[in-house]
Amino acid sequence: SVAYFNGTFVDSNDPVVPIDERGHQFGDGVYELIRIYNSKPFMLEEHLDRLYMSAKAIALPFDQERESFKEIIFQLIERSGLDNLDVYMQITRGMAPRNHLFPDAPVSISMTAKPFRSIPPELREKGAKAILHPDERWMNCYIKSLNLLPNILAKQEAHKAGCLEAILHRDGKLTEGTSTNVYVIKDSRIQTTPLSRHILAGITRMAVQKIAMEAAIPFEEKHVDIEELYEADEVFITSTTNEVMPIVQVGDKLIGDGQPGPMTRLLQRHFQELTTTTVSA
Ligand code: PLP
Repeated sequence: SVAYFNGTFVDSNDPVVPIDERGHQFGDGVYELIRIYNSKPFMLEEHLDRLYMSAKAIALPFDQERESFKEIIFQLIERSGLDNLDVYMQITRGMAPRNHLFPDAPVSISMTAKPFRSIPPELREKGAKAILHPDERWMNCYIKSLNLLPNILAKQEAHKAGCLEAILHRDGKLTEGTSTNVYVIKDSRIQTTPLSRHILAGITRMAVQKIAMEAAIPFEEKHVDIEELYEADEVFITSTTNEVMPIVQVGDKLIGDGQPGPMTRLLQRHFQELTTTTVSA
């Protein structure tokens, strides 16, 4: 499949990244994953806002003008020959002999274009299972950093337990999933972790909040504890690749009656409408 590295379009298997590259050696960079539905990038501006914010938060000198950066994305989409795809992009602190101190080097920009990461459709229909896992990450989870080791380890634990996701908790309160935001529904109110340094401000979360507002469904940003999770009427997670995914079991406890609930279904339907109608810049 097609990829991009520092000014050149390449094949994603081409060996283009040198050993002394800080994304490779330190995870010293930030990333985004943007989904393209029917050739239209979904919430592109929001993703780019977050990318520039993340870069700034780690003092990455990413000063590429936004329109020309978007041009690379559009070219990559065109070269992919795909209508529905995921564009992954990362910006790192560039290439320099390994040394913790910031190098005097230009940032590296890489991107890949791949067909949608397939989430089994029956999971979206019947709901998925999750485990609980302590949130062992750092204090700046609002940055979409390349450093994902705690997320990877927790997700692998979930997978070993036959589950899709690990829902993380800190001080007895839910934070988010390893690569998703998490929500409970109680008495027809959506409740989700408030934005802070402890979670990523999901773009799909933003879409769900907008859907909720338009449908006059209360959307409450509040700390949810583990008991409240177990006693929720419905639970779901969201991300660019998972979209709106019902969670019907956490550990060995069924949520509600163990079926995706009506509110989650409604949000799924509205989200799907957004992805089929939104025209992005
Ligand atoms: N939380 C974390 C830790 C993530 O890595 C992600 C996405 O990868 C999300 C939440 C969901 O964010 P988005 O909806 O922007 O994909």
